[in-house]
Amino acid sequence: LVVLSGVNKHFGDLHVLQDIDLTIHRGEVVIVIGPSGSGKSTLCRTINRLETYESGSITIDGKELPSEGRELARLRADVGMVFQSFNLFAHKTILENVTLGPVKVRKQKPEAARKRALELLERVGVAHQAEKYPAQLSGGQQQRVAIARALAMDPKVMLFDEPTSALDPEMINEVLDVMTDLAREGMTMVVVTHEMGFARKAANRVVFMSDGQVVEEAEPETFFTAPTSARAKDFLSKIL
Ligand code: ATP
Ligand code: MG
Repeated sequence: LVVLSGVNKHFGDLHVLQDIDLTIHRGEVVIVIGPSGSGKSTLCRTINRLETYESGSITIDGKELPSEGRELARLRADVGMVFQSFNLFAHKTILENVTLGPVKVRKQKPEAARKRALELLERVGVAHQAEKYPAQLSGGQQQRVAIARALAMDPKVMLFDEPTSALDPEMINEVLDVMTDLAREGMTMVVVTHEMGFARKAANRVVFMSDGQVVEEAEPETFFTAPTSARAKDFLSKIL
């Protein structure tokens, strides 16, 4: 579904993505882990063209993302993104946050978008907050709204960049539970996270990045119990 081949990117002298080859199949849940600065966020941002890249190709469902224009907005809508910092529109209500994209980009009728938004908010457990503003919600609730907002666009794939790392511990599970449900329902997901419990439970594959490279790919059980590369062993010894 998502195919990266030979992707390279620099930030000045820093070769932040080095010959990345990665295929994410439909319905697969891929966890991306690795040390700070290894390029995980950049990888996510490059997949939906929040960042440009210099060589290689990235296709979603066989289509290369254009670098600009109308077509980009539509194709980007196929890739839902959830960030560490929620990034909700502060001056819009929860409901408006979820309906805006479908109405503007997907050209849904406001009434249909509203109905669907309420269903999604129900599903992530915040429907009763629909008329509130983001600042009136807890971090965990805001992040669940961010997930509902991304789902409202009917994305083909969802990217999560450390979705729980800005949350208080007691709110982490309510977000991971929503993500686990999504995974079970067959959503294609790329998740940057240090939540190893979630990785073991929900992931089909773990991708380990270090210094801009994909160093190792394996099923979670294999990766966590028998990593092959020295860099992965070193990383796991620090976090487990
Ligand atoms: P973390 O676990 O801390 O989130 P990460 O694996 O997500 O790390 P990235 O945010 O992708 O790492 O950053 C990879 C490298 O690129 C880092 O060295 C970072 O300093 C650098 N970098 C990221 N964004 C930019 C930018 N806009 N301009 C210049 N350098 C950048
Ligand atoms: Mg990051």
